[in-house]
Amino acid sequence: MATIARNYRRNAHTARFLMAFHTAGGVAVDVPAEDSTYETPEHNGGGDGMVEINRGRVAEAIGSAVAPVRDARSEGQVRYMNNLIAWITEKDQAAGDAARAWTDGVTGAGKWSYDKADKFSISAWIDRLKAKNAELNEAAKAAPVEALPAVDGALPVKLDKSGKPMGLYYAVDIEGTTKFYRIKPGRKADFYFIDVQASDEFHSIRNVGTKAAIVKAILDAGAEDCMRRYGQLLGHCGRCGRTLTDETSRSIGIGPDCLGKM
Ligand SMILES: [Zn+2]
Repeated sequence: MATIARNYRRNAHTARFLMAFHTAGGVAVDVPAEDSTYETPEHNGGGDGMVEINRGRVAEAIGSAVAPVRDARSEGQVRYMNNLIAWITEKDQAAGDAARAWTDGVTGAGKWSYDKADKFSISAWIDRLKAKNAELNEAAKAAPVEALPAVDGALPVKLDKSGKPMGLYYAVDIEGTTKFYRIKPGRKADFYFIDVQASDEFHSIRNVGTKAAIVKAILDAGAEDCMRRYGQLLGHCGRCGRTLTDETSRSIGIGPDCLGKM
């Protein structure tokens, strides 16, 4: 599809026609004997879908559209790239978008390579994504924590033995997706350290607007309910993060010790 769009940049009608065929299965297309008028499947029977096409161009485009795109990456590599891009995007939208676009471009062109010296080396790209993610994590740690814009209410606080706030765990729906967070209140009101959890890794969120939206979503859904939901969904206590081995605790989402303290 990307090939079609690229090759037919200057001929929107032909591009639309070829894409329609490609979408409809893209295989059994009779290449016309000469330049002729064709009907797109989406306009079947209607006159407005008729387009002028050129035989050579159709043969060329169908060849490239139907040939399976080779993706040399393993499933694990695809997943890892996707995770890294998601983590980068959480911290730097523009960098994440650029990484996404480049990755999709190489995938679309079927150019991923195992050759480390190749421009499209899989491992070299993963290394670059990892480096970018690590750099953003470092920058996040170094940056001062800002107060959230006025939030109506406050998240619960759990103190360690020396009186420092500890992280609590929450599951909450943000824009239709269930997200998992570890949130540690700062010493002052409206200051929160927020990490988003992806698999077993935590990535800090710095944008105060994003943080305020997360805190608001949790307060709206009920902080305790979100902690329980975390435990129910992931099998780790929403208050201390420990694994819940007991079936009753898993159904509650909170371990017995923590339950007594809530
Ligand atoms: Zn617990």
